[in-house]
Amino acid sequence: MKKYFTFLLILLLLGCADKDIKQSKDKAQYSYANKIKQPKNIILMIGDGMGLTQITAGMYMNDNYLELEEFPIVGLHKSHARNNLITDSAAGATAFACGEKTNNAWIAQNPKNNTPMTTILEESEARNMPTGLVTTSTIVHATPASFFGHVTHRKQYEKLARQMLDNEVDLFIGGGQKYFERRKDKRNITKELEEKGYYMSNHVKEDLEKVKVPSGKNFGFFTADADPLSKEQGRDYLPYAAEFSINFLKKRAGKEGFFLMVEGAQIDWGGHANKSDYIITEMLDFNETIKNVLDFAKKDGNTLVIVTADHETGGYAINKESKLGDLKTKFTTDYHTATMIPVFAYGPGAELFAGIYDNTAIYHKMRQAKGWGDVLK
Ligand code: MG
Ligand code: ZN
Repeated sequence: MKKYFTFLLILLLLGCADKDIKQSKDKAQYSYANKIKQPKNIILMIGDGMGLTQITAGMYMNDNYLELEEFPIVGLHKSHARNNLITDSAAGATAFACGEKTNNAWIAQNPKNNTPMTTILEESEARNMPTGLVTTSTIVHATPASFFGHVTHRKQYEKLARQMLDNEVDLFIGGGQKYFERRKDKRNITKELEEKGYYMSNHVKEDLEKVKVPSGKNFGFFTADADPLSKEQGRDYLPYAAEFSINFLKKRAGKEGFFLMVEGAQIDWGGHANKSDYIITEMLDFNETIKNVLDFAKKDGNTLVIVTADHETGGYAINKESKLGDLKTKFTTDYHTATMIPVFAYGPGAELFAGIYDNTAIYHKMRQAKGWGDVLK
């Protein structure tokens, strides 16, 4: 017993000497390797700031039901960043996109040598899978940007917009038109994308519901000049955009399938604002989106759907005197917290996502589900 404590003490001291937070072994990753059926398509859904209480509040405000109950596999991930127990969305999404813990504010950039890390979206492109990104923030915001961009500070929005040209993202839908068109360097990235073969459009030009993308063209759609509205203010595109994107990518996908990331970005913003109603309306919008995605996955049978969050926001709690449909909530912070985050998985390969693991394991599990070997760059 004494030996054990000495050992623990040494571990603890070692832990203090090293600035990086120790990572967990990914136990579940390989044990199922031979049993799983491979999915064709992967749809990763990220509710930014969507901790367990955000989910629970949405459920109790939706007559005690959420689509997440349809998911047979639930796991938990440790959300911490490389250098901070409290992650931000950049390090959080980079963990999913690249399988490496990075520093807060860094986007798909290796913290050890400051070089770009290949993201799962870039690798999907290299493997001939069409890819898509859909969000209720700007498309250059930390979460979507971590799948196509590489910067050491998340606020480099114009640089991230320019980096969209380095990729072959087949479809993107989100806000942030100004970062593409009214830039310090005077470039018009929307035009450059058009020259590259994109059909570019926006909410002023036409409704997303009315869009007909000329065949063979990639598609970019701006839902706002800067940040999109909140659901409370009238934003309503996310559930449809997810459905639209699936249909768009499905048509282009060969036997390799497609990769799509869908983000409910503003659950986090409700947490930062310490506004329960904001969280709940965004949560239920995301729930509707999950329903649309799941309807497709159920019919398709070849699609792995993963729903998770990068971190919790607000230290949100549901307190005494709460009733179904009438919650008394409180916050402990206006920033993120370090609580473990649930992961819901449906479809072929879902069983890989049971258990407790680091956020980086989600990347490895997605690759494992696809049966990929060495990372293609
Ligand atoms: Mg986000
Ligand atoms: Zn946040």
